[in-house]
Amino acid sequence: MYCPYCRNPDSRVVDSRLADDGSAIRRRRLCPQCGRRFSTVETTSLSVIKRSGAGEPFSRMKIINGVRKACQGRPVTEDDLALLAQEVEENVRASGVAEIDAHEVGLAILGPLRKLDQIAYLRFASVYQGFESLEDFEEAIQTLRQQAKDNERVPSGARRPLTAH
Ligand SMILES: [Zn+2]
Repeated sequence: MYCPYCRNPDSRVVDSRLADDGSAIRRRRLCPQCGRRFSTVETTSLSVIKRSGAGEPFSRMKIINGVRKACQGRPVTEDDLALLAQEVEENVRASGVAEIDAHEVGLAILGPLRKLDQIAYLRFASVYQGFESLEDFEEAIQTLRQQAKDNERVPSGARRPLTAH
């Protein structure tokens, strides 16, 4: 690992810390040449298996690109998309697998996208889950309505806090 400041190919680990959920190790490193410190994050490699059977590294950018079209014209920012991709990656990594089907990545997107924007969710789900009729939409909308009702019933204090980073 090159020092990002002076490109020295050698560095010394001064601190190692496990992420709260155990999915990553963060190391503080010291460059013996320029004396600056930098961090590296070590995670298991995560492969997405495509329908053809070929694997490729999990990419947040691919998630964002896959969802962006469904978000056209919606009040969804690039930051929202980046957070969504991060949440998808965290959820997938938390399941502890080294490989995941592309199809399951799509499923992992549905939940966070539903919270982000319901219209974008319907667009994405209609393509991804192959909606073929108005009934398919009706069913999805009914589920959304039901969930909105369920959320109202949860006292705000009981909601799960956002994960701190
Ligand atoms: Zn250096």
